[in-house]
Amino acid sequence: MSQYPTRIDGQPVHTDEGLRVTAPYDGRDLGEVPVCTAEHVDRAVAAAKRSMSDAPLPQWRRAEILDRAAQDLTDEEVFEDLARTIALEAAKPITTARAEVSRCISTFTFAATACRTLAGEVLPLDASRAGEGRLGFTLRVPIGVVGAITPFNFPVNLVAHKLAPAIAAGCPVVLKPAHQTPLSGLKLVELLLDRCGLPHGWLHSVTGSGSVVGAALVDHDDVAMITFTGSPEVGWGIRGAAPQKKVSLELGNNSPIIVEPDADPEEAARKIAAAGTSHAGQSCISVQRVFVQRSVADGFVAALVAAIERLRVGDPLDDRTHVSALIDAENRDRVVSWIEGAVAAGATVATGGWVGDDGVLVPTVLTDVTPDMKVCREEVFGPLLAVQVYDGIEEAFARANDTRYGLHAAVFTDDLRTARRAIEELDFGGVIVNDVPTWRADQMPYGGVRDSGNTREGPFHAVQEMTEIRSAVIA
Ligand code: NAD
Repeated sequence: MSQYPTRIDGQPVHTDEGLRVTAPYDGRDLGEVPVCTAEHVDRAVAAAKRSMSDAPLPQWRRAEILDRAAQDLTDEEVFEDLARTIALEAAKPITTARAEVSRCISTFTFAATACRTLAGEVLPLDASRAGEGRLGFTLRVPIGVVGAITPFNFPVNLVAHKLAPAIAAGCPVVLKPAHQTPLSGLKLVELLLDRCGLPHGWLHSVTGSGSVVGAALVDHDDVAMITFTGSPEVGWGIRGAAPQKKVSLELGNNSPIIVEPDADPEEAARKIAAAGTSHAGQSCISVQRVFVQRSVADGFVAALVAAIERLRVGDPLDDRTHVSALIDAENRDRVVSWIEGAVAAGATVATGGWVGDDGVLVPTVLTDVTPDMKVCREEVFGPLLAVQVYDGIEEAFARANDTRYGLHAAVFTDDLRTARRAIEELDFGGVIVNDVPTWRADQMPYGGVRDSGNTREGPFHAVQEMTEIRSAVIA
């Protein structure tokens, strides 16, 4: 099968050795991509750096390119091809994959706005005696070449969340997509270069392993900033390896949700069932830890189990499928072993917990779990909801906060005071009231505290991260 090329300085690049891409659901061969080396990274970074001086892109052109990308993604053929590629290489059900491409359009649209409105500010210099008579203002200056490293689970929209703000900020970018799902990212790169008018020096892709290609990007002296989305272990390792670079990290979570007795249990159960199992739970803000107040726990668990059992498991290309395979057998077996560990320690399987003939782990609800179990303490990244019962809201807040992660948390309640307390007391990057922690709009500032990261993404915020403030003073 032919090799899908990466692009360096506009040119397609092939390598003798190829990295095979296979469909997690049925193991079908989807082709291969090049196995790049540090030398490819060098070439890409050098071309990116050159483009800043040799082919400057004014703000209006960058905004136009971003608008063009949003427009071209609505082309039915492009849209459907990207969605199908995501569905195949990530085993993301096709309806969810289409939603990802729609979000990608939104990301480019907001990045165009962020680009057009990117501006410095006037400095009130004569507010101090020393500044009297001087005019001061700031410029937002591109930080330099950006290295973008992305995970497997949103292979189009999370790539867009790095490329679009980099273009908006005026930074050339070198992309290293996840080795499991490189094809959809490469297609997005191709679209930007070949259809949207992005000059070839401004965007490059390098495929291969994280430990070789990703590490070469992190080590490169001419890469000013690494924007990384992925696991905490790799992310914090990168932060440690590049102390002098700007490194923005978007990492994992084990999202809590609190269900208060005044909430509608049916609605909460339905939304939690969908949000805990969408893309088989492989979202950084997938619901994982469910806290339900004791007086409504039985009815809620029954509704949750019923909602989970209504989900259809199977082929990601089938429009009716809600849940498909995990990214690989190793991760499926890991989640199964965590379920077994929890059960051995006293948890009860309320539904699921088994692997079907097609190798897909069936969505699972565990009750009687305790905070020390792996299914509560770690990030499961699988279709699993771990339900705990609480008595008072203080206890719920304390248990939700008892985690090394801090991306999103949520509460279902009809009580305004509880909603307000949740927003104030849940120590997370985002708190959602009356919906799941999985809820996100692409223009929001998005990111976490503690082990979940050190930045906020979303075009308006990422553009700030990718530019430096230059103070200008005219005496
Ligand atoms: P991962 O950390 O294994 O890989 C992410 C990327 O890093 C890949 O491209 C990989 O090749 C690369 N990489 C691996 N080792 C590297 C190294 N030594 N140097 C440089 N790059 C290296 O993550 P994953 O399994 O692809 O994704 C799942 C994780 O991503 C989960 O923890 C999930 O919560 C997190 N995630 C976070 C967000 C967010 O916005 N906060 C969004 C999606 C996923």
